[in-house]
Amino acid sequence: MKLLSAALILALSFGGMQTAHAQTEAGFQAWVKQFRSTALKNGVSARVYDRAFRGVKLNERVVRLDRKQAEFSREIWDYLDTATSPKRVKNGRAALKKHGNVLRQIERKYGVDKEVVLAVWGMETGYGANMGNINIVEALATLAYDGRREKFGRQQLLQALKIIQNGDITPNRMNGSWAGAMGHTQFIPTSYEAFAQDFDGDGKRNVWDENDPSDALASTANYFKRSGWVQNQPWGIEVKLPKDFYHGNASLKVKATPARWTELGVRTINGNKIPNHGKGSVFLPAGSDGPAFIVFKNFGVIKRYNNANSYAMGVGHLAGKIKGQGEFVKEWPRGPGALKLAEKLAVQELLNSAGYDVGEPDGIIGPKTLDAVNAIQASWGQQPNSKADQVFLKELRKRVR
Ligand code: CA
Repeated sequence: MKLLSAALILALSFGGMQTAHAQTEAGFQAWVKQFRSTALKNGVSARVYDRAFRGVKLNERVVRLDRKQAEFSREIWDYLDTATSPKRVKNGRAALKKHGNVLRQIERKYGVDKEVVLAVWGMETGYGANMGNINIVEALATLAYDGRREKFGRQQLLQALKIIQNGDITPNRMNGSWAGAMGHTQFIPTSYEAFAQDFDGDGKRNVWDENDPSDALASTANYFKRSGWVQNQPWGIEVKLPKDFYHGNASLKVKATPARWTELGVRTINGNKIPNHGKGSVFLPAGSDGPAFIVFKNFGVIKRYNNANSYAMGVGHLAGKIKGQGEFVKEWPRGPGALKLAEKLAVQELLNSAGYDVGEPDGIIGPKTLDAVNAIQASWGQQPNSKADQVFLKELRKRVR
């Protein structure tokens, strides 16, 4: 989901303070009737409003997903394993081949590296495979009515109605996620209004088109350009810190020139001077036991799109892998027994060859893989433990060829 402005975040937190009221279809329909006058006052025509709400009901799934959504914390290495899985890299390269022409045109026009645009596309919807199929008007009206995100829902709903009014999309095709994010790169309506582009020049800003992602990709590039993207510069580089490094300086708040970091003994992971990509900060996403980075201006630009360090690393690292870069040199402190990405892939390959279908190995130990782990442990006469760890891999290697 896209950047929320400071004002909007404030509005959200106020919305969150209200107690959700009992949800009924009748209550929802009464709310829709009531909100109509607000919409009309804000320039939405009666005809557009009535058409957009035809058949719209309280969406229980949206309510459920909204209440369930807690920022569940995952270790950064698990997050990055998923975000930059071999499958996603492979699909990214295939998308680059298929849409290379338009991506190069977009890169030229907006000055945003095509692999970065691709990486956002891959992170947000798996290159358009999962754009979401919830009617946006229904999702946002439900969020507005439900109360937990009333301000957000109302603001985004008004903007969504204006998008319909402008003729960019018909209401029945305006689909997206439960949280109101739309199209290939998941723009919320206010981001759409601010940044969406009609790249193919057909008069419509169509970020939803399954067959032609060019408007959506140009819109994403435009978002990055307007957020200050510096072309041909990395989000960050892996570095080595000197033994006597003062860790008070490992903060995104501390910015220094490459020359200054070099003076302080910081080197690239290959032992060279820090290259000049402008001022940067030392960033230790997993603390001093994990890989160290210097992150540059573009790291902050990615965060304007989605304000999380893990997301920015995911986009940057995925873009790098699509270009052919490898894993980071220093290992993550995964803890005893934990599997590295290559080992997770080995687990999945071995389970497949043992006849347990876990799908194409992707390094993501999800429910399907864990089902297979439990099934094969049971077949060995063991107590299944839902654990794909070093002990399991060793056993698996011993028993499966
Ligand atoms: Ca268009």
